[in-house]
Amino acid sequence: MGKSIRIHLLHCGYMQVSESVVLGDGRSLKNAARQLMTKTEQRVTLPVCAFLIEHPDALILVDTGWCRDISPKGVYDPAAVKKVLPAHLAAVYQPYVPEGMAIHEQLAARGIRPEDLDIVLLTHLDPDHVAGIRHVKNAKRILVAEDEYFWNCRFVYQARQPKKLFEGIPMERFWYRGSDMGTNRWSYDLLEDNTIHCVNIPGHTDGLFSVIVQNGELLEHKRKFALLTSDAAYVPKNWEEDIVPGLGFDVTLQRKGIRWIKEQAAMDSCVGVFTSHDPEVQPQTIEIPLPDREP
Ligand SMILES: [Zn+2]
Repeated sequence: MGKSIRIHLLHCGYMQVSESVVLGDGRSLKNAARQLMTKTEQRVTLPVCAFLIEHPDALILVDTGWCRDISPKGVYDPAAVKKVLPAHLAAVYQPYVPEGMAIHEQLAARGIRPEDLDIVLLTHLDPDHVAGIRHVKNAKRILVAEDEYFWNCRFVYQARQPKKLFEGIPMERFWYRGSDMGTNRWSYDLLEDNTIHCVNIPGHTDGLFSVIVQNGELLEHKRKFALLTSDAAYVPKNWEEDIVPGLGFDVTLQRKGIRWIKEQAAMDSCVGVFTSHDPEVQPQTIEIPLPDREP
């Protein structure tokens, strides 16, 4: 059998959020109020995904989901959440992690130790993507985009991305390079083999990247790729109906992002588009066969 790249979509807990997070069409005071105040029973429950990528040359984790301390007994525990997140973020996310679903628990179930991970990629520094980082802090490398890390100094991000979640974690910062990918024409070829690209899609945050996982073929008719959008979109309705999520930083950039995702989704070479929070998508494995190369 030929080689392939396998992407395991994992649910690393859930968040109970106002529907305006998903389909609010941009940041506004009204959306912010809804995101803070909507009663739990009127919220939507969204998964918080991480993606484990088995590449022939590297074992890679994309994002880390929630940490166990946020939900010690596997259920929504507001007091425990407030020990991890400041009150306003605890109110926005209302997170919980059923037993066995925190990232280190799911890795252990597959016989993987954190130190077996070659690379952990953080698509951006919002808590639903970063909170689990301490569970995998012994990975060989932890990477975040310089643009994301640097702009964490902005007040708007300090309110969204509590530093205590990742303080003291040895993160390497990488620089995007000019490329033909994404709305900013900036990406990072992770293994320098054209199979995994971190593609900057600003809007939700400045430095956020989506991940393109592909078979490394240069010719479009031979190419096959999957797109992991991170929070550039939440659900297909965002790009299908041109509705920007209601949580973000710059609505104009977010709209460029969902239009780019729409173009990618329409390509024959696209095997699937996966967001980090689509309630319709269950845990599954996506396989991208690699072309046979001469030894
Ligand atoms: Zn998110």
